[in-house]
Amino acid sequence: EVSAAPTVVVRAHDLPYLDERLPTDERVADLVRRMTLTEKAGQMTQAERANVAGDPAAITELGLGSVLSGGGSTPADNTPAGWADAIDGFQTRALATRLQIPLLYGVDSVHGHGNLAGATILPHNIGLGATRDPLLVAKAGRMVATETRATGIPWTFAPCLCVVRDDRWGRTYESFGEHPALAGVLGTAAVRGFQGKHLDSNRSVLATAKHFVADGDTAYGTGEGEYTVDQGVTQQSRQHVEAVDLPPYVAALAAGVGSVMPSYSSMDWTDDGLGNPVKLHAHDELINGWLKDEHGFDGFVISDYQGIHQIPPLASDSPTTGQIVTSVNAGVDMFMEPSQFERFHTRLVAAVQDGAVTEERVDDAVSRILAAKFELGLFEEPFADRSHADRIGSDQHRAIARKAAAASQVLLKNDDAALPLDADASVYVAGRNADDVGNQAGGWTGTWQGWSGDVTEGTTILEGIEDAAGDVTFSEDASAPTAGADVGVVVVGETPYAEGYGDVGGPEWAWDPADGGVPREEKSMALQPGDVDVVERVCAEIETCVVLVVSGRPQVLTEQLGSIDALVASWLPGTEGAGVADVLFGERRFTGRLPVSWPRSAEDPVVNVGDEDYDPLFPFGWGLSTGGPSSHLDRHRLELQDEVLDPVNGVPPSAAKAIAKSDEAMLEGHESHAHNILTAAIGR
Ligand code: BGC
Repeated sequence: EVSAAPTVVVRAHDLPYLDERLPTDERVADLVRRMTLTEKAGQMTQAERANVAGDPAAITELGLGSVLSGGGSTPADNTPAGWADAIDGFQTRALATRLQIPLLYGVDSVHGHGNLAGATILPHNIGLGATRDPLLVAKAGRMVATETRATGIPWTFAPCLCVVRDDRWGRTYESFGEHPALAGVLGTAAVRGFQGKHLDSNRSVLATAKHFVADGDTAYGTGEGEYTVDQGVTQQSRQHVEAVDLPPYVAALAAGVGSVMPSYSSMDWTDDGLGNPVKLHAHDELINGWLKDEHGFDGFVISDYQGIHQIPPLASDSPTTGQIVTSVNAGVDMFMEPSQFERFHTRLVAAVQDGAVTEERVDDAVSRILAAKFELGLFEEPFADRSHADRIGSDQHRAIARKAAAASQVLLKNDDAALPLDADASVYVAGRNADDVGNQAGGWTGTWQGWSGDVTEGTTILEGIEDAAGDVTFSEDASAPTAGADVGVVVVGETPYAEGYGDVGGPEWAWDPADGGVPREEKSMALQPGDVDVVERVCAEIETCVVLVVSGRPQVLTEQLGSIDALVASWLPGTEGAGVADVLFGERRFTGRLPVSWPRSAEDPVVNVGDEDYDPLFPFGWGLSTGGPSSHLDRHRLELQDEVLDPVNGVPPSAAKAIAKSDEAMLEGHESHAHNILTAAIGR
């Protein structure tokens, strides 16, 4: 992809904006004043890698501001060097423009550098939510940033600050949980981890708070009509949105998040919230109003993938001029136009020439984008700094992910102290998620949707168990005889998906049976029949029966509960299945707490802490502990978290400050200082 790239001399000019001693705003002002309208429109345009790889000259011709790799969009050589070479090739094209403005490359490193084979993959956010551990999330964010930037990528479309209120939403696992305080505390920890103290560090990436706002709070988690699945309508009052969905953004803005992505969903911003829902990509009151004017956001807003194509009236030649004008004027600054980037560019230029968009608005958008590029140090170091490439998938990084996987496990039930298991026990392992890295990692791994099987490198839960115990038999469908086993470990749950409904039958993108989909009413969070079968068989035959649910959201198994001795919500633990084995065998204690309420019934699965008649099977915050080693820091952390993540009152500002300070100390490598700050915060 780099063939015949032009030769460029970096910083060939002697112009003020190239002077790194000048403050960012002066550099921005100097550069913007030199730019033509066409060049400005180019900065506001983002194309998809696959669509410029064959013709990278388009980057120079249009002066593109950004390129992304969507889920599964990898260069032919999917190695760290392959990525860095490909991106450097694109960068060379950007630097061949008149003003040598570097490209800003973005990816969805939502739980690791998911597109890169061999990257370290963490638990998805729902599992990190169960850890309640901002220090761990910040450290993990730093790890992800290091692996991402080492391949030449300075920007991630993460974290999702969604507060999930209806777990039928197919993106539930991208949420830290159903409580705004949890999403706020952990979301800001992720932002701090990604961005570090200095964005121009070779271990930092720009973060994106998404999807603004209330994406996790749509009715049924879906919508109707042309764009359905997970892109529905938030039917909540303004007061509710302010109390539940917006607080994580307030926190992330205070932490200095660099970009914000609007949601595909729609919302009516009035007292009852039931009037005329407006697409968030067109939401002047929320983007210009709430975000930029009221809350002073000075970063830039990036549209979601073809997000503006959904602004009514829908058209076959999107993005239409009308869609572009509406969205630019509502405050969106950069446009993810994977394939229609050229059309977008032409129509934006024309809209400004016609007066439908002012040049002042364009200058504002471009200034925000350029400020991020200056802060990231891209004008000084536009090419990949590969000096941390050997950290990708390293033992040290896998150790962080393993610890996160262990800390994310929630022990829901533990009759007769079935767990932890004895390493001398004979263990019979069954279930489709026991020996499958792809199922553990879920969506956004290897491909957009993820896939079952060896999607990337890692250890499966079964491999972790085999390492911990001497006598292990595995039978995926539980067909092998069980005679003599002391304990059965059944690992069931969901298979990978991204966006859409989830894996409950039928294609992701269809709900109409005419399109081969399952009607949404039939989509269910009940444990699937094949899984029920394996659970029932193993639990009937083996005295001690442990069930692990590997899934992006709760699975209803109320009827099976009586036959299960120990039940664990494993979420989507990522590539380090050994972390799950660590808590099963008491190498680490179970410390996870439910980030979402666990429903009793598949017919009535919408249950959130604070509801009237709140009656879940297991409540928000539930999680049993087991014995086992834990550090002082672990203990203080849990005490602090139990205290501050009060489901009714949320996080007191003083505690939020302490968490922020201790995150920073941790990121600078001062672990004991971080501990002291937390200790002081809880008055010990
Ligand atoms: C998703 C975003 C993601 C984008 C780029 C969209 O489909 O909604 O979360 O960042 O794709 O891959």
